[in-house]
Amino acid sequence: MEYHRKLGLSEDAFEGVIEHAERASYDGTEYRHVPDYRRGVERGTVLFDGEVVRGFPKVPRTLVLAEGVPRQFDSPVAVEEKLDGYNVRVARIDGDVLAFSRGGLVCPYTTWFVERELDLDPLFDDYPDAAVCGEMVGPENPYTAHDYPDVDSLAFRAFDWRDRESGEPLDVRERRERYGEYGVPQTRLFGVYDPDDAAADLREIVDELDADDREGVVMKSLDGATQLKYTTSAANRGDLAYAFSLPFDYGQAFMFRRLIREAFQSIEWDESPEAARERARAVGEAIVLSMTESIERVADGEAVGERHTVRGDPDAIDALLDHFEEQGLTIDVEADDRADGERVVTFCKRVQSTNDKIRGYLDGQIV
Ligand code: ATP
Repeated sequence: MEYHRKLGLSEDAFEGVIEHAERASYDGTEYRHVPDYRRGVERGTVLFDGEVVRGFPKVPRTLVLAEGVPRQFDSPVAVEEKLDGYNVRVARIDGDVLAFSRGGLVCPYTTWFVERELDLDPLFDDYPDAAVCGEMVGPENPYTAHDYPDVDSLAFRAFDWRDRESGEPLDVRERRERYGEYGVPQTRLFGVYDPDDAAADLREIVDELDADDREGVVMKSLDGATQLKYTTSAANRGDLAYAFSLPFDYGQAFMFRRLIREAFQSIEWDESPEAARERARAVGEAIVLSMTESIERVADGEAVGERHTVRGDPDAIDALLDHFEEQGLTIDVEADDRADGERVVTFCKRVQSTNDKIRGYLDGQIV
């Protein structure tokens, strides 16, 4: 079947989408992926070898739980943990199990990891059109850096199951049951709540997550169709610290949005002046100390950038480095070792603006 039919679009509408699609290739197969939402087609939608894998939909956010939750939901909501890692959709196309990034690229490293860690063939034998959606978490991966006490290196946690062609989600309870049956690890479910009086329970859950330096929650209607996210102060501060460690490469809008979240949480939590002041101090520290650390590094002659460590099969790591090169990224390999029969590589994705600007200002460049 042609792509436009699979996407439920007229030929004309499909033309409007495909002219903006980007080309990439994986293992000799050329494919296309959609860089931003257009005509009902999600960003990250992939057209691969005659098959479609829909992008993972944008998850809206509330800044005020007590008002936002009842406004978004009119029936019970499942509250799941929001994990801090990177989004992946896994689908089987023409016999190959492939892992797609949020933007719709096949990640060779994640594909290798999923192949090794998860046996998804029984699931895809029974449900060939499934897109297994989840978060890759843990300290050793090519994209993010957040530690979880139960993850030494990298792990997958499923949080959604969709039809890869229509994007239709499975009912939350059915999804959890099915993943249980196939032995696929999942994100935590805190419970199912009435949206009109979930605020107090949500506050408790968020406080607990915050104390453990975890990211937040995603609330979902039981049919899985409506989602809403909310993050902890710890996550907001973590993001701010990361962004301000590379202040001239991260968009100012990224930072601004996170600052706003802190102010609204302080108001909703009805904080005492002392608690609000403590929050302000913690946010200020996250911002200023991460910048001064970066400035010190550059002053010492080091380069700042996004540093990651990956561990695994030597060929998968080579494929990952090639993949970055194809995307035009500059990668400096800082360590390349063997441990327990695996290759462990630490690399730094170079960010130009922060290094150049900091160097310039240190040398007296006038603003
Ligand atoms: P967007 O705003 O487009 O959804 P974003 O890049 O701003 O994306 P986040 O703020 O991190 O993303 O929130 C959405 C992401 O949260 C999802 O893409 C998914 O990868 C991740 N996530 C983690 N845990 C869950 C979960 N339990 N349910 C749904 N998404 C989750």
